[in-house]
Order: sequence, then C-alpha cells, then structure tokens
Amino acid sequence: MARSSHEFLRCENLEKTYFTESGPLTALTGVSLSLKEQETISIVGPSGCGKSTLLFIMAGLEKPTGGNIIFRGIPLERAHKEIALVLQDYGLFPWKTVQKNIELGIRIRRDPVDRQMIANLLGELGISEKTELYPQQLSGGQRQRVALARALVLNPSLLLLDEPFASVDAMTRERLQDIVGATWRSRHFGMVMVTHNIQEAVGLGKKVLVMGGNPGSILMCVDNPRACEEGYRVSDEFYDTCRTVRNELEQVS
Ligand code: ADP
Ligand code: MG
Repeated sequence: MARSSHEFLRCENLEKTYFTESGPLTALTGVSLSLKEQETISIVGPSGCGKSTLLFIMAGLEKPTGGNIIFRGIPLERAHKEIALVLQDYGLFPWKTVQKNIELGIRIRRDPVDRQMIANLLGELGISEKTELYPQQLSGGQRQRVALARALVLNPSLLLLDEPFASVDAMTRERLQDIVGATWRSRHFGMVMVTHNIQEAVGLGKKVLVMGGNPGSILMCVDNPRACEEGYRVSDEFYDTCRTVRNELEQVS
C-alpha cells in the first residue's frame, strides 16, 4: 500500500474514565492529537498520568469514554491489523523458540510466513543467530529485540511502544534506540512511544508530548523534527531539546 504523508491517526478530545469498585476514576481528559503517516511521537510524563491508557486506546484495546479516535478516517473500535503494540515485559512465550515467537502473529492471521522477510528483519535487529533459542536463553536486550521483531514482522503502519526499554541497562537501551531509529529509517512506520527517559523521547519522537495532571492531559508539545536521524543524538540541538523537555517535566512532576 502506498504510504503518504496524510494524517492517519487522530484523537479528538479523548476522555477515559475507569469504573472501579471504589468508584469512577478519570484517567484522561481533553486529549487531542494527530499523527501523520510515518511520523513519530514520544510521550513523557509522570507515573499515573494516563500514558498507557492513551496508548491502549490508540491500539484499539481500550475504548474512550468520551471523544473520538479515528484511524484512516474510520473510528477505531478494536485492534487493527495495521497497528502493533510492544509492551515493556516482552510478552514472549517461553516454550516457543525465537523463530516461532516471531511467526506467531503471522500464523494467527493465517498469512503466509515469508522466511526471507523475517530473516532480513532479524538481520536488521541483530538477532539472526538466535532463532532456535528460547527467550530465557536471551539477555533482556535481545528479548526486547525479539518482541520488536514480532511486531515489525506484521509490517504495521503504526507501531506503539509502551516503555519498551525500561528493563534493560543504559548501554543496551541506547543500542536499542539506535536500532529502532535505523529500522524506522528503512521501514517508515508511524510510531508512538511512551517512555520515562528524556533522551529516548527526544532521540525518537519528532514531536515530544509532555503529559501530566490528574486526570491526565497533554500539557505541551515540543517539535523535534530531527528525531530518528542518524547522528542527531550527539548534536547540540539534541541536548537543547532534552533540556527543554526536562524543564517542562519538572514543572508537571
Ligand atoms: P501511566 O501509564 O501514565 O503510568 P496509566 O494509564 O497506567 O498511567 O494509568 C492512569 C490512571 O488510570 C491511574 O490512576 C491508574 O491507576 C488508572 N488505571 C489504569 N488502568 C486501569 C484499569 N484497567 N482500571 C482502573 N483504573 C486504571
Ligand atoms: Mg504506563
């Protein structure tokens, strides 16, 4: 399918109230944003401000209690085959090999398994040698790459990442960020990433949204057009943008 730069995801005045045993809890209010095809957005904000809730709504896995979410001009009411979600805890099946874990989504869809395409992707992600191993035989960083591969193998036009690198060490984290940037440059999917890490947010998000408040909303949007560019992370502009985002976050945390 041709991928143009037209807006393809739009959130209009979203609100989400959870109805819990102890009463209603409004997690999000007045959230509006739009994402063009192949655009990347990072979302930062204190714990509990509704970031995961927003991402789950974008994945079609939670329904907003107010407002609209539109994907390719149509209200998003359930999971969509063009939208893939990667969670922090990998979600890999321990009894399946890396290869089988990666093929799982394709098999569930009953699509043909294209081994060459998978092999190319595994090469890009640097895990070609691991296909016959089981998740517990891998490091945290390798597991996270397998989780990424499992999402990317479905060729999503929108990749959603919820604090994807939170459980790996700092060096691995930077390496994974580079891999995501390089994969984005070669595959050009839209991406929304929730993270606690300011450098990660600025490295990968062409817009950085700062969320906060209770209920949560978007308080600030920092434009960051050079995100995902090779070499951006060592530029002065990168550090300036990190400082801007940090200042904003300090005001809401
Ligand atoms: P964040 O990802 O920013 O930490 P969440 O979206 O996970 O925030 O949560 C926002 C608020 O909504 C929190 O107060 C949380 O306890 C509440 N919440 C999240 N998921 C549910 C749920 N399934 N049922 C009830 N409350 C929830
Ligand atoms: Mg969360």
